[in-house]
Amino acid sequence: MNCMFFNGIILTMNSKNSVIQDGCIVVEDDIIIDVGKYSELKNKYHGYEKFDCKNKIITPPFINCHTHASMTLLRGYADDLPLFEWLTKWIFPVEKTLTPDDIYLGTKLAVIESALSGVSCLNTMYYFMDMEAEAISQAGLRGVVGHVCFSNNKKQDSSLTFNLVKKWHNSNNGLIRVSVDPHSVYTVDPAYLKELHQLRNELNDKYGSQNAPIRWHIHTAETSDELIKMRESFNSSESSEVKRLVCESYDGVFDYLNRLNVLDDQIVAAHCVHLTDKDINLIRDKSVNVVHNPVSNLKLASGVSPLPKLLNHNINVSLGTDGPCSNNSLDMFETIKITALLHKGVNLNPTLLPAVEVVKMATINAAKALGWDSEIGSIEKGKKADLLIIDLSRPHAVPLYNEFSQIVYALKSSDVDSLMINGRFIVENKVMKTVNVEETISKVVKWVADKFPDRSINS
Ligand SMILES: [Zn+2]
Repeated sequence: MNCMFFNGIILTMNSKNSVIQDGCIVVEDDIIIDVGKYSELKNKYHGYEKFDCKNKIITPPFINCHTHASMTLLRGYADDLPLFEWLTKWIFPVEKTLTPDDIYLGTKLAVIESALSGVSCLNTMYYFMDMEAEAISQAGLRGVVGHVCFSNNKKQDSSLTFNLVKKWHNSNNGLIRVSVDPHSVYTVDPAYLKELHQLRNELNDKYGSQNAPIRWHIHTAETSDELIKMRESFNSSESSEVKRLVCESYDGVFDYLNRLNVLDDQIVAAHCVHLTDKDINLIRDKSVNVVHNPVSNLKLASGVSPLPKLLNHNINVSLGTDGPCSNNSLDMFETIKITALLHKGVNLNPTLLPAVEVVKMATINAAKALGWDSEIGSIEKGKKADLLIIDLSRPHAVPLYNEFSQIVYALKSSDVDSLMINGRFIVENKVMKTVNVEETISKVVKWVADKFPDRSINS
């Protein structure tokens, strides 16, 4: 599509966080070929389809850097429980009954919810990831999909991951990528963690590239007792090497991972709530990418990540919603606002997490975390045409003094006007163009009514 967006306020999220008033973005096919003042560009380009963005902000779309997309099906299924009980008594048992068709349906709902709230890309870890990749592809979103690996499923995991990479990495015009995803330190034993790290390196050599790397995506330090749970799970291992590694003492989860030699800049580490000083230094020294999931951490009462400390250490931090079963939404506007508020509140310091920093986390920092920043995360000449257009006409959006503050504190997902991904409108004038919304919603309602007849209020 060759088009020109004019009259808008552009938040470029480039290295200077430049804001262009009366801005203009020129798109040819899937690439941004120019960005600047409309007054300077309007006579340079002719014959392009024009979109008037008066009274609208144009930003890079948000990137949800840690989620489990198809868990939309379990939104509200088990709430107000501690994480371990939530996982072992509720989530793991029901997950065993989910089919590939269920995963496809849940992901379809997730991509609709995401696109309508301004999200272009999901970093998602779950089962039957072929189906998640399929649903994300069909909707035209970007995704990094990873099969979640556990010690008790070792035999299948490696081949599932290998096949996923072979089939999907850098597929669908480069919109889909694959990662290697160990679930956590308490569900994946140390020998298997090392094996999965090695697998990622081998897959990267064969299928990855500098601009499309295969990441290692893992839950880390979400609760304070992960190393205790790790010992309980693996100290009866038949391997003396595993026993030795499990029983040594560690100064935090990252100290443990470092001693296994698996820490590097290809890691996307979700949560990072309970960190020792040593952990924070290791995250910085090894350039690990952290994903902050404040809503999920609050809902499961996991604690509050020491985010200001991480930022002071120049660590790359992005944002995620976590799964829609522990949030219970995929709304990044909400996550952005709660991030800014939470750390001010608990630290009694209103100067922490300025609005522009939080918008960076949801855009360019996330693109860096996924190794995708040469193509997305900012609005710059030569990058992919991914644009989020936000309407400023509703009462809560006026007046406008500072665009970043408006996004973080005032605007809502319902203000999303249009979303372009790779030069294609996915949402235009608030209408989802690539997936049938009503049909998907009614299928989900029917799915719940059939599966849980006594729990569904819609049955
Ligand atoms: Zn998660």
